[in-house]
Amino acid sequence: MRMIGLIGGMSWESTAVYYRLLNEAVRDRMGGLTSAEILLRSVDFSRIVALQQTGQWDKAAAVLAGIAQDLERAGADCILICTNTMHKLADAVQGAISIPLIHIVDSTGAALSAAGAHRPLLLATAYTMEQDFYRSRLMAHSGIEAMVPETADRAEVHRIIFEEICQGVVLPASRARYVAIMEKAKAAGADSVILGCTEIGLLVGQDDCPLPAFDSTLIHADAAVAFALSAQSGTSQAA
Ligand code: GLU
Repeated sequence: MRMIGLIGGMSWESTAVYYRLLNEAVRDRMGGLTSAEILLRSVDFSRIVALQQTGQWDKAAAVLAGIAQDLERAGADCILICTNTMHKLADAVQGAISIPLIHIVDSTGAALSAAGAHRPLLLATAYTMEQDFYRSRLMAHSGIEAMVPETADRAEVHRIIFEEICQGVVLPASRARYVAIMEKAKAAGADSVILGCTEIGLLVGQDDCPLPAFDSTLIHADAAVAFALSAQSGTSQAA
């Protein structure tokens, strides 16, 4: 089994989910007491958020690239950045290491394609919904064009992520707000929804959603386990 390197803590609420999912998937596939080989470096999220809010993406890239190098030196065979937003910096991180970075957008695109979904609503942080890095990658690698909510709804989706879910707060009113946004998108032609922030699965699950849901955390963790348990290298969705 190959060693999975995680850059986590963004937020730790979802990194904890990754840790559980990786181990459950390895147990389910291998049985018995088998569990995942994992190296986890968890950051202080408040420092990363300060860099995001002030647009210091270069500094954030240097932090994540340094961590990826540390994980590679420590024996990781692949790297996961356990957040969609920080995939804005995926190329810089991949460029700093010689092991594959398993890219969350490519994994999500592959899952959408496999299910025949081609018009997903993207729910994510404002960075992910409004900047180009996510949607252009999804289009370039998977040929899928994602819809995003309207301005006020994007602000609310973003606020709920940072002020609530990332701080362990899960409110029924916020779940209802997310569902209402999905209903609107469904009426506008969406055929699926990407839970494109690694914490959203803590607020809404498939049972809440009026559209087929693609949870980026689940999909990303599954891709890592497929890599870790695959026999040959070169089978990952490297950047
Ligand atoms: N975990 C979130 C994501 O998947 C947001 C946290 C962050 O800003 O990195 O985008």
